[in-house]
Amino acid sequence: MLTVLSGPSGCGKTTILRKVLEDARVRRVVTATTRSPRPGEVHGRDYWFFSDAGFESLRAAGGLLESADNYGCSYGTPRSEVERPDDPRQVVLDIDPQGFRALRKTGTPVFGIFVAPPSLEALKARLLARGTETPDQLDRRIARAAADLEAAREYDAVVVNDRLEAAVSAVKKLMGLEA
Ligand code: ADP
Ligand code: 5GP
Repeated sequence: MLTVLSGPSGCGKTTILRKVLEDARVRRVVTATTRSPRPGEVHGRDYWFFSDAGFESLRAAGGLLESADNYGCSYGTPRSEVERPDDPRQVVLDIDPQGFRALRKTGTPVFGIFVAPPSLEALKARLLARGTETPDQLDRRIARAAADLEAAREYDAVVVNDRLEAAVSAVKKLMGLEA
């Protein structure tokens, strides 16, 4: 069963996932994108970074379970990352609500966990602190976060990312990795 961690940009999906991945029974789906790597991001670990043409040919060949355009770049979930019948590890995918919805529609069995920020103010503060967006990008992400929060009800569980350790523990419990 595929576990999806979803929520607005800046809610802490990546941070929580990094902690969950310290458990050897878990692997992460590395998704594909056409955006440029941020400092420290590694091809094949954080994303598969593609040119526009490369992404398009993967999509045309049916290699993506779903794809979407976010903030002017393309993102998609490679089929080969999800469908690995010989790998016994649990699989986690970190994706936005639009991507989760698209994935659910494909009929892929997923357990959806919505990661919510304690408040929109906290979310904005975290995105500012992360410092990876231009002011314009930041405004767009905050504007979309308000709408994304409405999506929480479509999920199997909601975890509020207030104290990081508590959020990580809640996710691990939902995945059956912790009592
Ligand atoms: P996402 O992957 O959902 O876009 P990130 O994991 O990059 O979000 O988190 C956004 C920012 O918020 C990062 O700078 C991260 O260090 C910070 N952050 C994440 N979780 C918490 C938390 N529980 N408390 C305070 N800051 C947090
Ligand atoms: P970022 O540029 O901050 O890494 O990601 C931007 C947004 O794209 C995030 O909300 C992230 O969850 C989403 N995203 C990453 N990979 C995929 C994917 O494979 N499919 C979809 N639909 N969205 C993705």
